[in-house]
Amino acid sequence: MRHIAIVGSGPAGFYTAEALLKSGDATIDIIDRLPVPYGLIRFGVAPDHQSIKAVSRRYEKVALTPGVRFLGNVHLGADVSSEELLHYYDAVVLATGAPLDRRLGIPGDDLPGVVGSAAFVGWYNGHPDFADLALPLDQGDAVIVGNGNVALDCARILAKTPGEFVGSDIVAHAFEALGSSAIRAITILGRRGPHQIAMTPKELGELGHLEAAAPLVDPDDFPPAGTDAALDPGQRKSVELLRGFAASPPDGSKPRTITFDFFAKPIAIEGEGRAERVIVERTALGPDGQARGTGQTYAIPAGLVISCIGYASPPIPGVPYDEALGRYPNRDGLVEERMFAVGWARRGPTGTIGTNRPDGFAVAEAIDAAFPPGTTDTGRDGPAGLDRLLASRGCDPVLFADWQKIEAAEVAAARAGAPREKLVRVPDLLKASGH
Ligand code: NAP
Repeated sequence: MRHIAIVGSGPAGFYTAEALLKSGDATIDIIDRLPVPYGLIRFGVAPDHQSIKAVSRRYEKVALTPGVRFLGNVHLGADVSSEELLHYYDAVVLATGAPLDRRLGIPGDDLPGVVGSAAFVGWYNGHPDFADLALPLDQGDAVIVGNGNVALDCARILAKTPGEFVGSDIVAHAFEALGSSAIRAITILGRRGPHQIAMTPKELGELGHLEAAAPLVDPDDFPPAGTDAALDPGQRKSVELLRGFAASPPDGSKPRTITFDFFAKPIAIEGEGRAERVIVERTALGPDGQARGTGQTYAIPAGLVISCIGYASPPIPGVPYDEALGRYPNRDGLVEERMFAVGWARRGPTGTIGTNRPDGFAVAEAIDAAFPPGTTDTGRDGPAGLDRLLASRGCDPVLFADWQKIEAAEVAAARAGAPREKLVRVPDLLKASGH
C-alpha cells in the first residue's frame, strides 16, 4: 500500500486525491492547518458566488472514500515537519495555495487602511486569521489596485446592498459592517489599459447590474474599436462590456460609483497616521506592452486601499522557496525527491478552480510512475506513523466526521435565506467539532 500526504485541502489538494484514487492502492492523508476543509472554496470564492462553491460536494465525496482522511488543525512546520512527512509517507504533495498578499512596495503601503485582498477577502469570507481586521468603512472613498477578477470581487462586495447578499454566505461581521458602510466612491486602478485587463466577462458584467452602484469608464481610454478584433474572444467580450459602461455613464440615480481608472499606477499612499489618499502616476504603454510612468501625477482620496495584485505561497521550513516567484521552485510539479507541488503552489496564483484538475492528474501520474500501485512496500508507516507523532505532541486533528459536525452547526445557525453562518474563530470551530 502506498502512503501519500497532501498538504492543503483546497481544490488542488482534492483534485490530486481524486486522481490518486483512480489508480487506487493508496492511503491518502489530506492535512490542513485550519480545522475546516476546502481552502479557496471556503475562504477565497466570493460569498455571492455560491454556484462555484458547490464544487465542494465533489471534494466531500473524495474525503468520504475509504483510504482517504482529512486531518484539520495540523500545521506543517509547527505540528509536523516536511522531513517527518517524508519519513512517514512515500510522497508528499504541497497543495498549500497562495494565501499571502504581495505587498505594493510603495511608500505608505503599511498605513492603517491599506490591506491586501487576501486579508479583505478573508475578512468577508470568515477566515480565522482576518476575523478582527480593522477596515475604515466610515470613510467615503476606496481605491482598489489591480485589474484582475479579485479586484472585481472586492469592488462588488464593497458596492452591494444588504438585499444583494441574500442567498450568500457572507459572514455576519462583514454583512453588518458593509450594511452601514459610508463608501460611495470606489476607484479601480489599472496600471495598463482596457485591452490588458485580466477580468473575465461574467465577473465584469456583474458590475453593470448592481442595485446601488454604477460603473464609470472614460471613453478616451480605449484604443480604436477596430483593434478589439485582435483580442481573444473572452478578452474581446470583456472589452465590449467596458465599452458599454463607457457609453452609458452613471445618471446619478445610484449612490455609489465604481470608476475604472486606467493607465494609473499607484506610487505612494499618504495620510496623517492612516490612508487618506493614493498618489497615482499616469502611465502609457511601452513598446513591450508594459506600463511606463509619464511623470504626470495626481491624488485620489482613499480611506481604504485594497491591493489586488497577486499572492504568494507560504515558505515552509525545509522546503526550497523562491522569494521572487513566491512559491516552491519545481520541475513539472517535482520540488525534490518524493515531494511535489500542485495548483497555485506549483504554478503561481493564476487560472480558475478547474485549472487545478490537470495538475492533480499529472502529479498522480508521476507518483504512480515512482510508486506503481500494488508493487510498493517501502516500509514507511503512513497514517499510523503520523498519528503516533501527532499524539506524542498533543496535536488532536479534526477529522472529516468532526468537520461534518461543524458544518451542521453552521447550517443550523444560518440567517434566513443563507446556506450557512460560518464560525470564524478557531476555538469556536474546535468546540463545534467536538474537540
Ligand atoms: P490577476 O488576474 O493576476 O490580476 C492581477 C492584477 O494586478 C493585474 O491587473 C496586474 O496588472 C495587477 N498588478 C500586479 N502588480 C501590480 C502593481 N505592482 N501595481 C499595480 N497593479 C499591479 O490576479 P487576481 O485578480 O489576484 O486573480 C488571481 C486568479 O484567480 C486569476 O486567475 C483570476 O482569474 C482568478 N479568480 C477568478 C475568479 C472568478 O472566476 N470568479 C474570481 C477571483 C479570482 P498587469 O497585468 O499590468 O501585471
